[in-house]
Amino acid sequence: MKMIDGHAHIGYIGGWANVGITEEELIAQMNQYGIEKTALCMEDNEITYSVMQKNPGRIIGCVYVNPLNPATVDAMDEYFARGFTAVKLNPLRHAYCADSEMLDPILAKAAKYNVPVCIHSGHPPYSLPWQIGLLAERHPNVKIMMIHMGHGHGVYIDAALKMARRYPNIYLEMSGMPMPSKIKEAYETVGADRIMFGTDTPFHHPTVEIQKVLTCGLEEDAFRKIFYDNAAQFFNL
Ligand SMILES: [Zn+2]
Repeated sequence: MKMIDGHAHIGYIGGWANVGITEEELIAQMNQYGIEKTALCMEDNEITYSVMQKNPGRIIGCVYVNPLNPATVDAMDEYFARGFTAVKLNPLRHAYCADSEMLDPILAKAAKYNVPVCIHSGHPPYSLPWQIGLLAERHPNVKIMMIHMGHGHGVYIDAALKMARRYPNIYLEMSGMPMPSKIKEAYETVGADRIMFGTDTPFHHPTVEIQKVLTCGLEEDAFRKIFYDNAAQFFNL
C-alpha cells in the first residue's frame, strides 16, 4: 500500500531520547515500507532543504519556526519560495504555550501562503489539545495538524478527538499514540479525511505505526485514506 509519512525527523536526538537515523537510512526505510513521501522537520531548515534537494518528490519540507526567535518567523517567506510547503511548531521543545498570541503572526503567514501548520501535542503545560483548539479557533482558515493526537495520555487523546470534532480545521496525526481503537474512533466521529498516518521516525518505527492502523478495526478503503489520501489533501499535494 502506498503511504505518506505525516511526521518524521533525521539525525541523532540525544538527551533522554538517545535515538537517531541518517538521511540514507530514512530513504531506505521509506523504500522498504512503501512510504512514497515523508513530511520532514528539522530545527535546522537547511538540513531539510538539502534532503529535499537530494530526494526530489520524496520529502515534504516543513519549515521549523520558533515564535521566540523572530528571525525564524521572518525566514518563512524565503523557505516557502524555496519549496517548503508546511510549517512545524513544537511548543514543548521551545517552551511556549500552543494557545499563545505569539503564534498569530506565524499562522497569519501560513494563511497568506495557504500552507498547513503541524504542531506537537501531548505535553503540559505547553502543548495540550485544548490549547491547540484555542489556536485553531482563532485561525479557522489554517489547516492545523495535531501531531501525535494527544500522544501517550488517554485523557489527552480523548481531548484531541473532542477538539478536532469542534474545530474542522484540526487534523489528527497518530505517531506515538498507543491506542489503535482511537484511530477508528477518530475516523468515524471526527471525519474520514482528518486522521492520518505518521511515524515520528526515529522515535517510533513504521512496523509498529502501520500495525496500529491495520488493527484499528477499519477496512481497506479507510486504510487508503489514512495512509495516503488524507495527508495528500492536508499537504495540498
Ligand atoms: Zn516528532
